[in-house]
Amino acid sequence: MMSVASLLNRENQNKAMEVVRSQRKSSLPNDAVSTLPLYRSAPPLEVRLEDFEFYAIDRLRVLKGISDGLSRGKKPDEMEKLVYDLWKENMRHPQASEVVNKDIISHFVLRLVYCRTEELRKWFLSMETTLFRHRFLHENPEVQKALFAEFDLPYKVVSRAEYETVKDMLNQVARSIGQSTDAIFYKVPFEEVPELVAGRRVFIKEGNAYIAMSQVVSLVVTQFRSHLSKALVLTNRKWTSMIREQEKDRLTPIIEALSTSYLGPDYSQPTKHTDISLKDIDQIAKSSFPLCMHHLFGKLREDHHLKHGGRMQLGLFLKGMGLKLDDALAFWKAEFSPKVGAERFDKEYAYSIRHNYGKEGKRTDYTPYSCQKIISSTPGVGDHHGCPYRHFSEENLRAALTRMGVGNRALEDVLDKVRNRHYQLACTLTFEAVHGSSCDAGINHPNQYYNDSRKILESPNNSSNP
Ligand code: SF4
Repeated sequence: MMSVASLLNRENQNKAMEVVRSQRKSSLPNDAVSTLPLYRSAPPLEVRLEDFEFYAIDRLRVLKGISDGLSRGKKPDEMEKLVYDLWKENMRHPQASEVVNKDIISHFVLRLVYCRTEELRKWFLSMETTLFRHRFLHENPEVQKALFAEFDLPYKVVSRAEYETVKDMLNQVARSIGQSTDAIFYKVPFEEVPELVAGRRVFIKEGNAYIAMSQVVSLVVTQFRSHLSKALVLTNRKWTSMIREQEKDRLTPIIEALSTSYLGPDYSQPTKHTDISLKDIDQIAKSSFPLCMHHLFGKLREDHHLKHGGRMQLGLFLKGMGLKLDDALAFWKAEFSPKVGAERFDKEYAYSIRHNYGKEGKRTDYTPYSCQKIISSTPGVGDHHGCPYRHFSEENLRAALTRMGVGNRALEDVLDKVRNRHYQLACTLTFEAVHGSSCDAGINHPNQYYNDSRKILESPNNSSNP
């Protein structure tokens, strides 16, 4: 067991991170999205080491789902449903009383994970703020009011007497933006709500904007974002000055792995769609390999050789597809022999293939690489592994996608995602363009691409099937 508070609140702690036992009790039913903490301070909660990691992974699924939704350009109402579903699916706990704890602990664990670089902080800040905004909007007005009060902002509720003097103007603004009139208003310096002013969504008098309770979300979200942004910088200081070293045997490896962790299945076990025969492999590569594997497969056929990184990436992918060890040895031998000769293949290369299948060395049964691992690899000169969306030039990528049959319009969408560094989303759009079918879960693993492709192509409803 360990305490998140003791980890984050060790000596030299900044005041902003002090333990405040501030878990509010919501008056709402114990629904997954009904209790919204402000995460002002690390909680005085004990957590088992496994839960420390599992809770963080569950929250990460929510944040990654939000990130995918945003980069796909989902509309506000679609995002609202997405966030609600993601939260419900991932943040429940078998014990209802633990839901809030899971929420708080997972947030603070991910702070440690995502405080470590500017890029990680930016991503976490943006996703947590989006999550907070949607959860806030989902609360009832009483809870919203209580949350607003917790920020301790210097804004006063408009008194009844003053309300009567401006009531007509307030009603007029409310009608013009299609809102019902609110009974509670705050007076806020107008420069603090630029988006409401720009959208002519508030009544302004003597430099003050009159903000209805239903509009305070933008104020609350700004405060939340600013608190979290400062807290992340402070957490980073503690991480580099203390925690990383003190926890180097216990938590540091977990924390360092979490930001790049792959959250889906490992595809080490063949499924219904993963049982292939060598005679079909060319046809299957053409129709169902993602671009990274398609490229490696083509290079192997062309050069009769692949360097270590390429052999690992493609070899484990084929293993995840269900290629048996004997077939794998036959396949690689047939490919390599024209270049290195059968004898040299047996001596120098067969060992590493058996090794991948757990038959040599430490006898580890290696799992196929996820997109995240492939995308973060650094291929050198003469290497062909990696993710083409990340590692190809735009010109080469354009040519490769055209060869895969991606049409002009879809191609521009794919390249647009690549320019914004959404590589997996680019791969998802390619999948959708090639298969004429949506892939809502997004592509996270080359073997997922393969399995989903086979499912579609082998479906009785597929018109290309006899
Ligand atoms: S996104 Fe994943 S499956 Fe697609 S090409 Fe890159 S590594 Fe391969």
